[in-house]
Amino acid sequence: MSAQVIIVGGGPVGLSLALGLAHHGVRSITLEREPEPTTESRALVIWPRSLEVLADWGAFEPLRAAGTWRSKIEMWYAQTGEPLLQADFSMLSDVLARPGALLLPQSDTERVLRQLVAANALCELHAGYEATTLEQDSDGVIVTAHGPSGIERFRAPYAVGCDGAHGIVRHALGMTLEGATYRARAVLSDVTATGTPWTPPSPRVSFIDGTFTLGIEYAPSRWRIVSLVAEDASDEQALDSQALAVRLERLFGEKRAWTVTWSSLFRIHRRHAQCFFEARVAIAGDAAHLNSPAGGQGMNAGIQDAANLAWKLAYALDERVDAPTLLESYNQERHEMIMGNVERFTDSITRYGTPAVRRFGPLPLRLVRRWFRGPGMQRKLCRAIGMLGGRYTKSPVIDSRHPLAGRRVDDLVLADGVRINQRRGGKAALLAVGALATATIPPLGATVLQIGAAPRHWLVKPPTVLVIRPDGCVAAVVEKPTKERVTAAWQKAFALSPQTL
Ligand SMILES: Cc1cc2nc3c(=O)[nH]c(=O)nc-3n(C[C@H](O)[C@H](O)[C@H](O)COP(=O)(O)OP(=O)(O)OC[C@H]3O[C@@H](n4cnc5c(N)ncnc54)[C@H](O)[C@@H]3O)c2cc1C
Repeated sequence: MSAQVIIVGGGPVGLSLALGLAHHGVRSITLEREPEPTTESRALVIWPRSLEVLADWGAFEPLRAAGTWRSKIEMWYAQTGEPLLQADFSMLSDVLARPGALLLPQSDTERVLRQLVAANALCELHAGYEATTLEQDSDGVIVTAHGPSGIERFRAPYAVGCDGAHGIVRHALGMTLEGATYRARAVLSDVTATGTPWTPPSPRVSFIDGTFTLGIEYAPSRWRIVSLVAEDASDEQALDSQALAVRLERLFGEKRAWTVTWSSLFRIHRRHAQCFFEARVAIAGDAAHLNSPAGGQGMNAGIQDAANLAWKLAYALDERVDAPTLLESYNQERHEMIMGNVERFTDSITRYGTPAVRRFGPLPLRLVRRWFRGPGMQRKLCRAIGMLGGRYTKSPVIDSRHPLAGRRVDDLVLADGVRINQRRGGKAALLAVGALATATIPPLGATVLQIGAAPRHWLVKPPTVLVIRPDGCVAAVVEKPTKERVTAAWQKAFALSPQTL
């Protein structure tokens, strides 16, 4: 197969990208060092924004069949049985087709994604191939890999490093992960009840002696236990099985038989590479940025990198497109989102949240619960947790003069009962708001959708046309539209040279 994109690393981000590229008709080769998917549970939750993207690429149903669906997430105080924090995604059913989160260990996510990639005629997965070098010239990229039958060379117009925090691609581009590593340490254990199972509610937290322990039941009788490590405790003490037994007793108030399937001690990072794209090579996922696992944003942010990048690589292969501008927008947009949202979340949770719960126990969570109790605040919380917020403001392909531009489009129900995203099917579209003369919609080959009026928070006055990109981001809001103005907005959104339309 002659690939158009080489993906180095077949973790959750690389595999998602392969599916995203195939959705846009792009052939890819994925080189993955490990013959089998990881057995580590690592990322446990797939948030609504990532699910929306994976649904566009045909991965939602198989993933959902393997996982546990939660439309509401409630955190409980283990000592008193009191609810501490609640995010009810069903509040967002007017703007989200699948209002909920999927609990699925990363090992299962990778297994399902591998099966989907293996079954896709446009994807080729080379498992057991370790990429060793990467070089690029003006026409393409050459990746050398060590496979079962020796050294092999792969060439393609573009390559993407999805090879994790220690991958070779970022090194080949001469970049590092800059930022901060916090002093706080956390210990994580996956525990299976071997006798009488612990019963939900889940997640539950305990606060005793200045430590915070969280337990999440991610599959029947399988719990993820995460605890902050006391500053004076050694790594050995933190990982000690006796210490885990104490944590479990605090969480569940009783002794039960259990086995540990995985444990890990980790520090919290807030780091990103200087640039996510250079000439013909991009980086995505942990290869590009590292964040706290608290809030479960690491893998999710990587899948959203793939959503931003997949269509841009597909368009960049078309010679009518100004590829450098479009691909530079990947760098600008994802940098802004990672630094402005994901890193800010890591920073506030580590710098303020961790010391607050150490000092005051459940009190900060009680206050947060009160703060987010009303429906308006619940919606805000669900949008933030579900990674549905954030805005690209500095992109060369987004006309950010209107406050809606650069945001994810709300997945509204259209007059015929079908939602915007279902009708778009993961492709670009024009959304006409209000009654428009047919002559104002240019024949761009895009799906044209229509709504009578926009939700108030869009701040859109009809008649208006929205340009929606394949990743569901609003690229432009064209008020008082004319054929020429909509065409110009479309050209900018897809970095098309003017003579192509
Ligand atoms: C202890 C822990 C807990 C975590 N918990 C969460 C959580 O709850 N929620 C969350 O969202 N995130 C969590 N994360 C983070 C999450 O696991 C990562 O963000 C996610 O794995 C990133 O996916 P990726 O595909 O970018 O990288 P990786 O998962 O690291 O995948 C990289 C892939 O590249 C392959 N590879 C590397 N080098 C080469 C090479 N030279 N050639 C070929 N293949 C190569 C590797 O074998 C691997 O399969 C956690 C991480 C850790 C360590």
